[in-house]
Amino acid sequence: MNMHIRSENIVQTIDALEQCIQRPIPDAKIIQRLAKKHPMRITRYYLDLIDWDDPKDPIRKIAIPSRGEQKLSGTFDTSGEHVYTKFRGLQHKYRQTALILTTNSCAVYCRHCFRKRLVGLVENEVVVDWDRVVAYLTAHREVTNVLLSGGDPLMLTTDHLEDILRRLSRIPHLLYVRIGSRIPVVLPDRILDDDSLHEAFKAFASGEKRLYVTTQFNHPRELTSTSIQSVKRLQGDGVIVNNQTVLLKGVNDCSSVMAELQATLARIGVIPYYVFQCRPVTAVMDEFQVPLYDACHLIDEARKQLDGLGKRFRFVMSHLTGKIEVLGWSDGGIHAKYHQTNRASLHNKLFHKRLEKDVGWLDLGG
Ligand code: SF4
Repeated sequence: MNMHIRSENIVQTIDALEQCIQRPIPDAKIIQRLAKKHPMRITRYYLDLIDWDDPKDPIRKIAIPSRGEQKLSGTFDTSGEHVYTKFRGLQHKYRQTALILTTNSCAVYCRHCFRKRLVGLVENEVVVDWDRVVAYLTAHREVTNVLLSGGDPLMLTTDHLEDILRRLSRIPHLLYVRIGSRIPVVLPDRILDDDSLHEAFKAFASGEKRLYVTTQFNHPRELTSTSIQSVKRLQGDGVIVNNQTVLLKGVNDCSSVMAELQATLARIGVIPYYVFQCRPVTAVMDEFQVPLYDACHLIDEARKQLDGLGKRFRFVMSHLTGKIEVLGWSDGGIHAKYHQTNRASLHNKLFHKRLEKDVGWLDLGG
């Protein structure tokens, strides 16, 4: 664990939370119970972004457990992660991409996390044998890129990350490595204070392969001067930073908020990459998922407010059958196109699906 996750920097219990914000938390007992099922963890930095006078504060909704988590519709693996797991810690769903679960730890346990089944809980899906990972990647020449995921890979020690990057840099057919991380959003000092991390990133990025960090900014208020500085440090290292936003009820389900977020990302040189429809995950779906009818209109409205660079993102959903781009709503349903899939018959397939206006997910079967 890296030095920034010392106990003075994080809050993990309701008592500590109440002490920190100097006021009682409504529903404290319920939250305590919920946090036993899916742990609560918040950095002091992220906590400071919350306006406690606003019960509907978006950052609060992302970080603090709420009553809605008691509703248990949905499932824990909505896109077939188990189906595509080749061995512990390595998933290979799309031909060109291997995904590695590097850790189950994060600096903040986002309440909307689609890996709620494991973050802060169990380690049985996290990679243990890096030699086996390297052997698999070396043997699979069709893999052009590796996505380091988790949990949050920037929770690993810098030495460990450096070792991983060094090993990956030696695999000739890899074109680039991606690191999926919310550290720039929730713990930017981990990036700002660690010179050895920058040495490691610079060393990798100065070679033949590119290094991407994919962040997850979900609300314009997360783009503080400190988080922007951390992004700039990464960019200064030669890292390409892009962003995936999750569309979340009560957080960013407003076209002007979404537009402001994507425009600000473009302004700081972060590529707006995806906006994800929130998956039907247990203890997440009822609390965070926006119906597709509303989502399509919201995205259309946001796009109207954005120039070409701001609207580079694709609005997508990750299904067992592949990644589907939602193009819009008309004729009583959604128009969509397969963006990424491992099934030959589905590549680039355009389709229309009639839906009720309150439906938040497509039932496409296996
Ligand atoms: S940082 Fe990512 S993996 Fe960790 S809880 Fe948040 S969304 Fe999930």
